[in-house]
Amino acid sequence: MEAFAQSEALVPASSVIDGKAYAAGLMSRVKTEVAEIKGRLNTVPGLAVILVGEDPASSVYVASKRRETQAAGMNSFEHRLPETTSQIVLLDLVKELNGDPRVHGILVQLPLPGHLDADAVIEAIDPAKDVDGFHVINAGRLTVGQNALVPCTPLGCLMLLKDRLGDLTGRHAVVVGRSNIVGKPMAQLLLQEDCTVTIAHRHSRDLANLTRIADIVVVAVGRPEMVRGDWIKPGATVIDVGINRVVRDGKSRLVGDVAFAEMGHAHAVTPVPGGVGPMTIGCLLSNTLEAFRRAQDREETSAMEIS
Ligand code: NDP
Repeated sequence: MEAFAQSEALVPASSVIDGKAYAAGLMSRVKTEVAEIKGRLNTVPGLAVILVGEDPASSVYVASKRRETQAAGMNSFEHRLPETTSQIVLLDLVKELNGDPRVHGILVQLPLPGHLDADAVIEAIDPAKDVDGFHVINAGRLTVGQNALVPCTPLGCLMLLKDRLGDLTGRHAVVVGRSNIVGKPMAQLLLQEDCTVTIAHRHSRDLANLTRIADIVVVAVGRPEMVRGDWIKPGATVIDVGINRVVRDGKSRLVGDVAFAEMGHAHAVTPVPGGVGPMTIGCLLSNTLEAFRRAQDREETSAMEIS
């Protein structure tokens, strides 16, 4: 670790992956396609977001999803339900949205209040509208290589990796973290790109030696700056998914799971904030657009079958 301590803050600008800029480009492409759809079909994709309770962070996320959805020219349907909402009422709303032809994507903002069963709610969403990609049908499709709606954060990581590295074939990727929303789908996506994939977790032995031989390291653990400079081989690409709030010198700030300032020898690295984070909403809208396209394809196919 000492070897890198002297190069603190010496990450060349050319090595920093600008997720904010990439996400802006993605949003602009989505907006252009939505405008084209509106001109051609006189309809637009719609995203429904359900928020239960008053959690301040969730409320901010939902408001920003509404703003971005509308900015992309899509319909935004926001459902804010009281903290005391019962499972049955929530499931009824999901069912109603499943059947609403104006809604192409449904997102239930997590975490839900403790009395609600999040797994059951997610399983109630029509997999074709599951733009978060959390439904077991979508997880299964991703695993067997079928057309799935893919969770937004790993999808965003993959976009950044391909943008920076091009073809990923044959590269050794180590994914640290195995959650259903980041680590596991990330590993599946990298496998589909013909990477050799290692998945590490809390019980992995000698983690630093695993990451040290990787060409690509994706970290999603939720531990501030756990991955140090000497865990990464020179020329590797590092994607930091972690978002951790810490207090430094009396000031509150966000840091990732990777010690960014020690990554001067990496080929490329995502900063926190400004790396993976901004990609998530862009991928949500891109998934909503994809769900819309597939719904159109299904309609055209069934119209052809009838005629
Ligand atoms: P989870 O808590 O669900 O999963 C964390 C994973 O990290 C688990 O698989 C756990 O292993 C593993 N882990 C924990 N400690 C260690 C350790 N010491 N060594 C190796 N592995 C370890 O978290 P999420 O996947 O939901 O999120 C991870 C991070 O990413 C968080 O900081 C979160 O805030 C952030 N995040 C950021 C997003 C964005 O948009 N940028 C979106 C989603 C998440 P085990 O399974 O063995 O317990």
